[in-house]
Amino acid sequence: MSRLESKRILVTGGAGFLGSHLCDRLIAAGHEVLCVDNYFTGRRRNVAHLLDNAGFELMRHDVTFPLYVEVDEIYNLACPASPVHYQHDPVQTTKTSVHGAINMLGLAKRTGATILQASTSEVYGDPTVHPQTEDYWGNVNPIGPRSCYDEGKRCAETLFFDYHRQHNMKIKVMRIFNTYGPRMHPADGRVVSNFIMQALRGEPITLYGDGSQTRSFCYVDDLIEGMIRLMESPDEVTGPINIGNPGEFSIRELAEKVIEMTGAKSELVFRPLPENDPMQRQPDITRAREILGWEPTVPLEAGLEKTIAYFRELVEEAA
Ligand code: NAD
Ligand code: UDP
Repeated sequence: MSRLESKRILVTGGAGFLGSHLCDRLIAAGHEVLCVDNYFTGRRRNVAHLLDNAGFELMRHDVTFPLYVEVDEIYNLACPASPVHYQHDPVQTTKTSVHGAINMLGLAKRTGATILQASTSEVYGDPTVHPQTEDYWGNVNPIGPRSCYDEGKRCAETLFFDYHRQHNMKIKVMRIFNTYGPRMHPADGRVVSNFIMQALRGEPITLYGDGSQTRSFCYVDDLIEGMIRLMESPDEVTGPINIGNPGEFSIRELAEKVIEMTGAKSELVFRPLPENDPMQRQPDITRAREILGWEPTVPLEAGLEKTIAYFRELVEEAA
């Protein structure tokens, strides 16, 4: 790639699960990447392999404080994504989404950078429309335990569209549905990492509620491809746009699949369903197909195989 095509790209939350995979892709494409993270849920080991690369720079920084750098593109991923982590310090979660968005939008305004927001299917809350299309406004509790994340992300979307209308900025809003893969934190409490770790350790698999609630699981490589396509789309494409895998599974089906694939002897145990836990979730990806020519390619079993291999290595390392 010539120096003209190579861009200076800021990835906030770059040491996290999705951020680290994004950094890999951007470095492989020949860009300069500034990875910013406060290591709340991310880890230096996720990007350790990139540290010797001349195009890669890692900076400890909290996005709730302003940042002055020169960049052409910003991917704003900073925010804990697991319910356990985002509920640990809910005030900080809202600050990260809202102050973080204001700071990064301010940076984009000054530099003229295109900015992409990692939004979420949680903006739909416990949806009454199924599958979820982007024009559905959602069913969100503003004062519950998930609200710091849901409303924080909704407010960030509002800010993105107001900056776009008021300051004519180049924005991209991506609504990410449950994504899994290597480099998820083994203790982050999300369902895929929990089930695999429990199975590999021979512990009981914890089903919250009766396990009939559904989720649609997207493998990380597919997700990152969609994210980059959205960033590279024409300026008039602002989103919001759903990116996720429409294959819908009950949580019980996922547990049974993990047990079968790991060969574990784990039993299923039932725990109370967390408050406001959405009962069903499935993306309508018509827009992504039509506008970005994107659709997922990795079936659940193939993705789980790679994810199980990653966690197996972690467990063996720790033994
Ligand atoms: P993650 O927790 O692995 O990564 C988030 C990263 O942001 C971490 O490295 C964390 O340390 C960092 N961070 C948190 N607060 C920060 C702050 N104030 N300043 C700087 N860095 C901060 O989660 P992930 O799954 O990689 O999610 C990345 C983004 O995608 C998040 O914004 C999340 O809301 C969004 N998202 C993810 C999913 C999913 O299924 N993985 C679904 C919907 C939306
Ligand atoms: N879940 C579960 N057992 C676990 C972890 C999660 O049954 O050990 C359920 C959780 O209640 C939810 C679904 O799995 O219905 C997905 O949870 P996750 O935290 O991964 O993400 P969410 O989509 O709820 O944000």
